[in-house]
Amino acid sequence: MKENYDVVIVGSGAAGLYGALQFSDKQSVLVISKRNAELSNSSLAQGGIAAVLDKENDDPKLHIEDTLIAGKYKNNPKAIEVLVNEGPSDVLRLRELGVEFDSDPSGKMLMTLEAGHSRHRIVHHKDFTGKAVTDTLIEIVKSKSNIDFVEDTLVFSVDKAQNGFYIGMLNSDHSITTVSCSYCILATGGIGRVYKYTTNSAIATGDGITFARNLGAKLMHLDRIQFHPTAFAAEKDRERFLISEAVRGEGAVLLNCYGERFAQNYDERGELAPRDVVSEAIIRESMRTNSENFYLDITHKSPDFVRERFPMIYDKCLEEGVDITKQRIPVFPCQHYLMGGIDVDLNAKTSVDRLYAAGECSHTGVHGANRLASNSLLEALVFSRRAAQNIMADIAQGNQGVVTGSEPVYNMGTVPLPKGIRTEIRSTLQDVYFVLKKPEKFEETYKRFTEILTDLESTDYQLTSDYIEAKSLATVAQEIMLEVTRKHQEDY
Ligand SMILES: Cc1cc2nc3c(=O)[nH]c(=O)nc-3n(C[C@H](O)[C@H](O)[C@H](O)COP(=O)(O)OP(=O)(O)OC[C@H]3O[C@@H](n4cnc5c(N)ncnc54)[C@H](O)[C@@H]3O)c2cc1C
Repeated sequence: MKENYDVVIVGSGAAGLYGALQFSDKQSVLVISKRNAELSNSSLAQGGIAAVLDKENDDPKLHIEDTLIAGKYKNNPKAIEVLVNEGPSDVLRLRELGVEFDSDPSGKMLMTLEAGHSRHRIVHHKDFTGKAVTDTLIEIVKSKSNIDFVEDTLVFSVDKAQNGFYIGMLNSDHSITTVSCSYCILATGGIGRVYKYTTNSAIATGDGITFARNLGAKLMHLDRIQFHPTAFAAEKDRERFLISEAVRGEGAVLLNCYGERFAQNYDERGELAPRDVVSEAIIRESMRTNSENFYLDITHKSPDFVRERFPMIYDKCLEEGVDITKQRIPVFPCQHYLMGGIDVDLNAKTSVDRLYAAGECSHTGVHGANRLASNSLLEALVFSRRAAQNIMADIAQGNQGVVTGSEPVYNMGTVPLPKGIRTEIRSTLQDVYFVLKKPEKFEETYKRFTEILTDLESTDYQLTSDYIEAKSLATVAQEIMLEVTRKHQEDY
């Protein structure tokens, strides 16, 4: 590791990796991953990436319209235009880089349908598209001479300097390293771990959002949280395995505890309605039937097709004792995605000079109130590329300058973090702000999260990964409830 970089990218998911690859060999780049490089929400992505690549059967206008409908027209139309118009060439670029999207014998990429899409436009690699993408990108990033890549290194602080930032990192041996950089891209992913049940990986604690907030960057719509209707319902697991939308896209039906289809009773699009609609249908049906037992059934399809199309889901369910070619899959909604985040412009720039954000931690406005399936990997690609291009243009204009200012001194702390803080945060949010919200508890919840955060910030706790992530979770939880309370007061 050097002492100074042109660019530091916090995160090695699709946004961090793809962004890093855009820089020319002249720029020194540091990519930081808090765990092993493979652990990210990107590598969990199953369904695929939405892109209008088949112009005979699809049209960018339809992709834009589908995105707007799913987002309840609360999206930023300019950001969607960028996404939809530029996204296809980023997907083709991924293919050039070596990602093997499923294709027919002539080499034409196969496109599947997912909920909310009016056309077959999701390119995929079986049912582990994200892993296919990140494995390819990790290998290339690691081979680049201008990029340093560190794993098991937790960024705990991003401080402003003259012409850049100081980045504080906690290494796996508990030592601390500080580097400076002219530009910083936050690509730290989602916030799922602020909930009791989530599809998100263990890294999703909202660290980047916390750094941005502490630097005074504008955050937007942190209350816009997506719940996925069909996560594998295993009570013992907090991280719930996703049963991709593509399973419904390929014809799986949703059944209640009596084995009856019911989604059409809540929305005429039935199982293929957008996620928030299907999630709400399940919760309302749960109240009607007084049962939390719900199932996805794809047993009417040929076992060979199911095993070939969904090998990972097939194997995972089998591990849990469910052969999906013969048995129904138990499912229930859980937290899945954050539509809001660090507010950025069309070049992924935040409101803080030289600070960029891309991927799930950012708010481009693409998703509006609800993300359309398979639009998020696309967003991570398009806007991380734009961030890198914008930084390179800034450097080309001679604006880089030299990073100066006194290096921050970090306090290692003395008090061990008490147990139970993270548990309290996630149980509370799961109770108060799940699919059907509990407005009567909003204010007291906000007060409690503020108390927790104040304690975390004012006590001399030891600087450990547990403490750093607890502080991120408390910050995100407080910001969610602040936004929710504010909007609730405006509504009533
Ligand atoms: C189960 C599942 C299935 C999904 N399926 C799809 C799909 O089919 N199609 C689709 O478009 N989207 C899908 N999504 C959503 C999509 O995967 C994510 O939104 C997207 O991949 C986010 O990419 P990212 O690069 O922003 O973040 P991530 O991929 O989550 O990467 C975040 C990175 O930041 C690092 N990091 C975080 N904090 C720190 C810190 N403090 N210090 C150092 N490093 C840090 C992490 O180590 C990680 O490397 C799915 C999500 C899940 C959970």
